Amino acid sequence: MKPVLMLAGLGHGQIEILDRLDEIRGYYEVQFIGERQTVYTGAFPQVIAGLMNSATVQLPRLEPVAERVISIDPHQQTVQTEQGLFHYDQLVLATGAKSRGIGTPLKPMSQALLDRIDSSSVVTIVGGGKAGVELAFTCAMTKDVTLYAKRILPDVPLHRQKQIERLLVKSGIMVVKQRLQDDASEGLLLDATGVVPVEWWAESELAKPDNFIATDEYLRHHQFSNIYVTGDMASCLNGGVDAVRSGRFVAKRLLSETSQPFRRRQSMNILLTTPGRALLTFGQFTWHGRLPYYVKRFIDSRYVRHYK
Ligand SMILES: Cc1cc2nc3c(=O)[nH]c(=O)nc-3n(C[C@H](O)[C@H](O)[C@H](O)COP(=O)(O)OP(=O)(O)OC[C@H]3O[C@@H](n4cnc5c(N)ncnc54)[C@H](O)[C@@H]3O)c2cc1C
Repeated sequence: MKPVLMLAGLGHGQIEILDRLDEIRGYYEVQFIGERQTVYTGAFPQVIAGLMNSATVQLPRLEPVAERVISIDPHQQTVQTEQGLFHYDQLVLATGAKSRGIGTPLKPMSQALLDRIDSSSVVTIVGGGKAGVELAFTCAMTKDVTLYAKRILPDVPLHRQKQIERLLVKSGIMVVKQRLQDDASEGLLLDATGVVPVEWWAESELAKPDNFIATDEYLRHHQFSNIYVTGDMASCLNGGVDAVRSGRFVAKRLLSETSQPFRRRQSMNILLTTPGRALLTFGQFTWHGRLPYYVKRFIDSRYVRHYK
């Protein structure tokens, strides 16, 4: 009998593993926990901007045993779900993290959230990082937008921060450079302040309270080596591109194709700004203009097409 491989959470951190499912099934009996569709966050702002019809990636070939992980007993090697208890020999955890809790959470993302944004004419966004700034630009194409952020894109060089701030204002966005005060928001309030750990991780002894999950250099849980952790859950990873890369790496580990540790890499980000333009960042290198816009559109539409 093959060992049971449980893939829990079917978002970005799992999707490259799903791509290699046929090969993996040669070694494991694979079971899934999660929904049969997931929102591709790269395309989320493009749907808001009316550039794409859908950001939803369909996973029709999968038949999950349950939709939600409630808790895990890493000693007994079981997962508690809304459908009951399931045993695993090997577990890949990729259920993502959650928004901080200001207003409407952006994570986990859903089509229902996109519909709410679409039907709101006034939006307040909190957070001046890449997600908040891109959301502000794309929402401003059809809505009244206020952006609360102490700093705009703090990770990019100062001249670029100033340029993007000017563009936000020029696009009609009210930029308030302070923390959001209680009751100060107008319309739909969106939390783009980043993600935080989910309570059941600590309750399941996978992490210390209010901490992300620590792993070894192979992305295995630091204590329970039959649990891989990918995406936003892992304390050593840094969001989006790392989430996808970590899934690819774990697929190779499951197929015994690599004995090398996971290597973090500087990753490129591209965010939409004014119509027809985007900002590319790669460490301290930045480029604002039309070419990054076309590159982003190409990458994202190829990704969504691949999973159609
Ligand atoms: C507005 C916005 C835009 C972004 N744009 C980009 C971008 O352009 N490029 C980029 O690289 N990154 C981007 N990011 C970051 C990116 O979304 C995350 O880093 C990435 O999604 C992390 O992948 P993940 O697998 O950890 O989580 P997710 O992709 O969120 O997947 C987790 C999945 O698990 C499901 N789930 C949650 N809880 C449970 C549970 N208890 N049981 C079972 N399933 C569960 C969720 O519904 C979801 O389907 C953006 C984030 C935001 C907020």
